Amino acid sequence: MAPQSPGPRQWSGPIEKLGDAERRSLLDNMSARPRPRIEIEEALRNGWFEMWYQPKIDLKRKCLAGAEALARIRHPRFGVLLPGSFIPGGADDSISRLAEHALVAALDNWTTFDEAGFNLHLAINVPVSVLLRLPVSALVDKHRPKSERWPGIILEVTEDQIVRDMRLAQEIAHQLKVSGIKIAIDDFGAGYSSFSSLRELPFIEIKLDGSFVKNCATDATNAAICQTAIDLAHRFGSAAVAEGIENAADLQALMVMGCDFGQGVLIAPPVPQERFLDLLRQRVSKPAAATSSQNDSASPQNAMHRVA
Ligand code: C2E
Ligand code: MG
Ligand code: MG
Repeated sequence: MAPQSPGPRQWSGPIEKLGDAERRSLLDNMSARPRPRIEIEEALRNGWFEMWYQPKIDLKRKCLAGAEALARIRHPRFGVLLPGSFIPGGADDSISRLAEHALVAALDNWTTFDEAGFNLHLAINVPVSVLLRLPVSALVDKHRPKSERWPGIILEVTEDQIVRDMRLAQEIAHQLKVSGIKIAIDDFGAGYSSFSSLRELPFIEIKLDGSFVKNCATDATNAAICQTAIDLAHRFGSAAVAEGIENAADLQALMVMGCDFGQGVLIAPPVPQERFLDLLRQRVSKPAAATSSQNDSASPQNAMHRVA
């Protein structure tokens, strides 16, 4: 039996009241203040890593479509630290071990979400260099949920890395497809890919870089870039995802442009796994009474709620 596609479970409500850790973490993200540098190996050894999840919303159906897993370190002295504190300049070996940790955690967490009634298409961030080192297919085959409902996992690879070696990216993407692994092009717009070169790459999504999403309702240049990326994704039979949506005007503009999915603090920030589940319970509509729990995730009949 073919796996069921996740969603639609209707999503409601405006920006969430943030807990202290999430608020601090977001503010840190946006500020330029110096951050402590922590070695990935040390954090792995001490069990400091957590995967936080940010919901991805289907902007057309106003429902939950999936979530992106983002790594955090919960440091005993410095508190919650963002990737800027441990990823830039990290050795390939360490980034690779982090990717393995994130992959296994996301596969494991999928079952937790599924058992709570949320069948989510999860995405993790993986550099191309890791795809060369890590036996991703074998790891997924070993750790993947055995449920037939599992929709596969998305690996987000940044556009600049794909552009650097398009041929390699194509090869890897084709190999991974067999194991239910899909590729999304992250931070699109910042990597200057030639549009024709993307034709050969089997990608499921283009994720519009937040710097172009910002003010796309009022900034004509950003609006033009967003519209071009959305049209390009559709031309290739893929979906367009806007990330970093911070205000209602930009969200509205993206919906008018035909953007398929959206992420951003306007909808919900990345939060720890437990809080993410609470958030889903608050924001995602209950399955319609007439629908069985197996079918509810595929039912378009649920009541509609506005995203923002
Ligand atoms: P990304 O994959 O492009 O992730 C989006 C970033 O935007 C995240 O930053 C997220 O917290 C932030 N964000 C979400 N909503 C908003 C918003 O409304 N406004 C703004 N300004 N920012 C928003 P974060 O978590 O600091 O991650 C930064 C980058 O670190 C990620 O960019 C990704 O490339 C990388 N990263 C995150 N987790 C991992 C991981 O497990 N492994 C690897 N290799 N890289 C990771
Ligand atoms: Mg990403
Ligand atoms: Mg991105």
